[in-house]
Amino acid sequence: MSSNVPYSFFKSIERSFDKAAIFTNWDNGILQQIKQCNSVYQMRFPIKRENGEIVTLEAYRVQHSHHKTPCKGGIRFSMAVNQDEVMALAALMTYKCAIVNVPFGGAKGGIKINPREYTPYELEKITRRYTAELIKKNFIGPGTDVPAPDYGTGEREMAWILDTYVAMHPGEIDASGCVTGKPVSQGGVRGRIEATGLGVFYGLSEICNMPSLMNNLGLPVGVKGKRICVQGLGNVGYHTALFFQQAGALIVGLAEYEGAIRNYDGLDVEKVFLHRKKTASILDFPGAENFAKSADALEMDCDMLIPAALENVINAENAARVKAKIVGEAANGPLTPEADEIFNLKGTLVVPDMYLNAGGVTVSYFEWLKNLSHVRYGRLEKRFSENMNHHIVNQMEELTGKTINGAEKEFLLHGADEIDLVRSGLEETMVGATREIVDIWQRTPAIPDMRTAAYVCAINKVGTSYAELGIFP
Ligand code: NAD
Repeated sequence: MSSNVPYSFFKSIERSFDKAAIFTNWDNGILQQIKQCNSVYQMRFPIKRENGEIVTLEAYRVQHSHHKTPCKGGIRFSMAVNQDEVMALAALMTYKCAIVNVPFGGAKGGIKINPREYTPYELEKITRRYTAELIKKNFIGPGTDVPAPDYGTGEREMAWILDTYVAMHPGEIDASGCVTGKPVSQGGVRGRIEATGLGVFYGLSEICNMPSLMNNLGLPVGVKGKRICVQGLGNVGYHTALFFQQAGALIVGLAEYEGAIRNYDGLDVEKVFLHRKKTASILDFPGAENFAKSADALEMDCDMLIPAALENVINAENAARVKAKIVGEAANGPLTPEADEIFNLKGTLVVPDMYLNAGGVTVSYFEWLKNLSHVRYGRLEKRFSENMNHHIVNQMEELTGKTINGAEKEFLLHGADEIDLVRSGLEETMVGATREIVDIWQRTPAIPDMRTAAYVCAINKVGTSYAELGIFP
């Protein structure tokens, strides 16, 4: 492990695991097997830059668990990449996949670079070389290990990974399932971009619809009228805020790194996004007040706070001043363990990142299934459903003597497209996972918080898998 890591992210995951393990019945051997990282691949390779300079890069791929294969997890391009971080994120992927019933083991990868310091040509060389290193050691493939985008990577890098893999596996019919988060034209799936934000919305909406939880918090049931503050107007934060606004919630605060704004009558997310694009700042949005500092937004008077930017933003210093009764962890690790303890004492409901932001991996799973089946979702049944719907609507009109018009008729006739099916699968997954975790929490009053309940859920699923494989007779 890198010697310059002052705090171990992986150890903190192990601590949360141990806190939850006491609420399970697995023997110590199984618990050890679940929590340790199965394979850690550290690599170094040289790259010749466009100016002729040769640099040696440090990179990783960690497969935390093989209780289900393939393994799955994103690839990060960041200067903060180190073995400890990659191991921790791989472990979180195991637990996340288990909770949302996505049949993968957890993995994560990373290259220690600042992508902004490299040209697109250099990034392509780096991505292709990293992929070749993974291929050499059998650390990538539709049945072994399937990467995805993370910090600093996106559709472009996934397309390079795919192309390198395909070039080195000619004739492998399922090769496009070797990576997810690809452009739709390269075997990607519709609905992947907004998947994490939409998943956060589905998960938190389900929480808001639970009378027992809302009564405890002294909040009315439902999303409508809930006052919400979102930190981060990037991919996850923007979509989360937008879906909540469309469902009738009031987005009363929005925070970005340059500042934050509030309006208790509600902010229009799309307009704020366009204002920021035009003026290069979220501040001075018409009708809104500026906060003195961006971080002040975290402490504003609201019902729900959704940190969707960075890790450790709510900590021992500011947690006691947070007024929201629900904190939805859309980002990975936005709360420190100290903040968690403060919220527990205050009775603030923390909805944990480990499952709340699982929308991305859930839709990645749908992409992988699409690649293995070689057919777009909805292609076979869409026209059949539309013909059937026409028939039903015609019969209804004939029998009632009334005509159905406009948008309502269009809605009734519509056959499911890929995007409809992906969203339906995502909603089912997030609602199911929310209910399962809350049920575990409510059935065992000694479980202190929802995060621990989520770990219990994950440990039981991975443990069952190992036990059923017969590894531990
Ligand atoms: P992103 O880069 O698209 O957005 C992050 C936003 O946060 C940016 O707009 C950035 O300007 C803003 N930001 C940075 N510093 C800030 C500060 N101090 N205060 C307020 N805002 C600040 O990234 P993203 O994909 O939306 O990811 C956000 C978080 O969600 C990360 O923790 C990521 O690991 C997690 N996550 C993302 C996905 C996904 O599918 N994108 C999936 C799971 C988890």
